[in-house]
Amino acid sequence: MTAALDLLDLDPSLTDEERQIRDVVRHLVDDRVRPHVADWYEQGRVPARELAREFGALGLLGMHLTGYGCAGASAVAYGLACQELEAGDSGLRSLVSVQGSLAMYAIWRYGSEEQKQRWLPSMATGEAIGCFGLTEPDHGSDPASMATRARRDGGDWLLTGGKMWITNAPIADVAVIWARTDEGVRGFAVPMDTPGVTAREIHRKMSLRASVTGEIALDDVRLPADAQLPGASGLKAPLSCLTEARYGIVWGSLGAARDCLETTLAYATTRTQFGRPIAGFQLTQAKLADMAVELVKGQLLALHLGRLADADRLRPDQVSVGKLNNVREALAIARQCRTILGANGVSGEYPVMRHANNLESVLTYEGTSEIHQLVVGQRLTGLSAFA
Ligand SMILES: Cc1cc2nc3c(=O)[nH]c(=O)nc-3n(C[C@H](O)[C@H](O)[C@H](O)COP(=O)(O)OP(=O)(O)OC[C@H]3O[C@@H](n4cnc5c(N)ncnc54)[C@H](O)[C@@H]3O)c2cc1C
Repeated sequence: MTAALDLLDLDPSLTDEERQIRDVVRHLVDDRVRPHVADWYEQGRVPARELAREFGALGLLGMHLTGYGCAGASAVAYGLACQELEAGDSGLRSLVSVQGSLAMYAIWRYGSEEQKQRWLPSMATGEAIGCFGLTEPDHGSDPASMATRARRDGGDWLLTGGKMWITNAPIADVAVIWARTDEGVRGFAVPMDTPGVTAREIHRKMSLRASVTGEIALDDVRLPADAQLPGASGLKAPLSCLTEARYGIVWGSLGAARDCLETTLAYATTRTQFGRPIAGFQLTQAKLADMAVELVKGQLLALHLGRLADADRLRPDQVSVGKLNNVREALAIARQCRTILGANGVSGEYPVMRHANNLESVLTYEGTSEIHQLVVGQRLTGLSAFA
């Protein structure tokens, strides 16, 4: 970030390696993303496969995992990478989060050795794309009610149902699908070319337009017994994957906010009205100061959670604190920045409205703000208010 925005001198709190990783990703975003992302967003098309290979070449896919071609980076380094990616666009961070923290993590943590060998190395390079199917048309915040079923048929499994709002589904080679069985919720690594699996792209999104989203229909999909993830038993398995991805969002959302604020600072110091830069008006400075304070507070929070993760002490409800605060504040920053840009704030020539629109999805996916409030509320009171 520009030195002016690092109000608390956080930069020296990072290790040399963390700064290096951050800078490499920042350059990648500057070279490969910024020149094109407004067009991708406007057209609702993104060269996701091509980008996945480039991200894979830099070790960004499954970056915090170990073995199977994964980089084994620290949680803080992974968070910093998410921040830089999302400063480009939330859609690109989503690509990396879904690949690494949802699909790869599920296989890495719960898969058999064969499943790991089959999928993880090619997913780490970006040759194979993964997706993660938990949400259904009628079951979002309450995945325990999922309708997708898997039943045994001899030595095989038969999967029936449908998943909705699945990032990367139309371009995926493998889907991690969560289904209800007689023994409870189980996960399956489903090759997308299996007969009975169809993926359809969801169009007309007004948010995350530089990200591919789809629905998956599962029509009596016959899978061999070894497609089941042997270590995943119950809903806690997909929820643990969501904790991984939410951690990336704690950092990533601030990247979008930072990009808005950097854009707005540059704009406000050069745009003149009433004969002086609009940055010189007290009302504008009050907005800029409040936003910069929220940004650094969010960064402190992200760094603290990252250090906890690296010490293996991070709890899911602490990730909820981070996701709830940082996405909410990032969205507030993006909306406020838009006001300072005036009419230019609604133009695709500037990234601000794109980030604001993207953050609407980020607020909803990986647990809505309300769900994270309930998680924190339960931690505080010992009472579950979910139902
Ligand atoms: C662009 C995009 C990409 C996505 N990618 C994926 C993906 O890759 N994989 C995947 O599985 N899912 C994905 N999702 C789905 C996402 O996780 C869900 O949209 C989210 O969990 C919310 O579910 P829902 O949309 O069904 O809303 P609902 O659950 O219907 O919620 C609607 C509203 O009701 C509120 N609400 C619900 N229950 C309660 C309660 N108990 N108390 C208070 N308020 C409540 C919610 O907070 C929300 O405000 C994606 C979504 C989007 C928009």
